[in-house]
Amino acid sequence: MTHATARGAAAAEQAPLILPPHILAALTLPALDALTPDQAAGRVCVWEGEPLTLASSIGLGEPVTHGDRWFPQGCHRCVQLAVLAAVKTHPAGCRQCAADETQCGTRRDLHALALEMRRGAW
Ligand SMILES: [Zn+2]
Ligand SMILES: [Zn+2]
Repeated sequence: MTHATARGAAAAEQAPLILPPHILAALTLPALDALTPDQAAGRVCVWEGEPLTLASSIGLGEPVTHGDRWFPQGCHRCVQLAVLAAVKTHPAGCRQCAADETQCGTRRDLHALALEMRRGAW
């Protein structure tokens, strides 16, 4: 295993472990008020507080709550559970899904991500 020096060539195989905004918006994060400083800063898993390594952590964006920016990260297992939960809960709050769920890109991407994570691609 080497770190890629040519960014372009390796991009397809080494997707950064950061979720796109429309996926992040569909995930339910714990309430900031209930977190430890380490969880809010992304030093441990935002859901269950497990230690994170570079290989196991997945960035969850930089939400702003009560004017404070925080930096949640999750371990693979917890993110996978959150994605699976979002697959179930997303359609209820989505106007596109209400109109025609086959046309909803968020729903499609959540399903694809859940499958990828189950295969261990993440
Ligand atoms: Zn976790
Ligand atoms: Zn939808």
